Amino acid sequence: MGLRIYLDGKFVDEPDAKVSVFDHGFLYGDGVFEGIRAYHNSVFRLKDHVDRLYDSAKAINLEIPISKEEMSNVIVDTCRQNELKDAYIRAVVSRGKGDLGLDPKKCNIATVVCIASSITLYPDETYTNGLTVITVPTRRNGPEGVNPRIKSLNYLNNIMAKIEANIAGVPEAILLNQEGYVAECTGDNIFMVKNGVLKTPAIHLGMLEGVTRNEVIKLAQKNGIPVEETTFTRYDLFVADEVFLTGTAAELIPVTKIDGRVIGDGKPGPVFATLLNEFRELVKEPEGPEAVIFK
Ligand code: PMP
Repeated sequence: MGLRIYLDGKFVDEPDAKVSVFDHGFLYGDGVFEGIRAYHNSVFRLKDHVDRLYDSAKAINLEIPISKEEMSNVIVDTCRQNELKDAYIRAVVSRGKGDLGLDPKKCNIATVVCIASSITLYPDETYTNGLTVITVPTRRNGPEGVNPRIKSLNYLNNIMAKIEANIAGVPEAILLNQEGYVAECTGDNIFMVKNGVLKTPAIHLGMLEGVTRNEVIKLAQKNGIPVEETTFTRYDLFVADEVFLTGTAAELIPVTKIDGRVIGDGKPGPVFATLLNEFRELVKEPEGPEAVIFK
């Protein structure tokens, strides 16, 4: 059986899940999205993702034609329709159908899509061996343009960085912000450990405020690991004891080489191991009745 996709109020089979070529999401990347996970019949941090989706939409003056509650039900129902206990879910809201001009006034109603499927970003062994990554010339776009806090359909900046990583033959790229401070990766936030202190770039430096990032900060605090949301440079990463990335799809993934420098002793470190373990325990906990997919 193929996938059942939510499209503008109903579930359709994947071959029928079609959006107009005049949709401004397609023509201009005008829209917002979320990447969400379901674990063991429960959508992980559903409220956080739905809130971020509506905040992203508000920031670009995009009216989502359904309420947050309806959107939450759509996300859960999409898992149900596809009989998925564990899933990677993509909720997309685009500006909708307009004409060939970029003016969003011409788009009457937003297009709403929800897809539930699976995703494997990195092979299993990378969680034990770590990733080799590079910093790239493409900088994270600053808040004066498309603010990186908006999870918009316009990912070209990150895609440019990903292309640079591809050309260099590595799986991920670290982007610096306009001032040269470490911001984040193409689809993940970044953490480092130095002398027992966990550090991650402060949000105002320009990045997506990751749901996984925020969970990892809470888990560290719960485990008595000091955390700082701060400012650091490539140098700090090179001399860090540990570096790892966080994101909905990747969860927590260690980095063992950056720009040719071996990080720490070249193996995933103890703080990473503790936090990955804690995170995997956390996702086993159901989030309450509203998040139960099916029994
Ligand atoms: N930064 C960027 C640019 C991303 O696309 C993502 C993944 N959506 C993240 C960070 C991680 O965010 P989250 O933990 O909410 O998935």
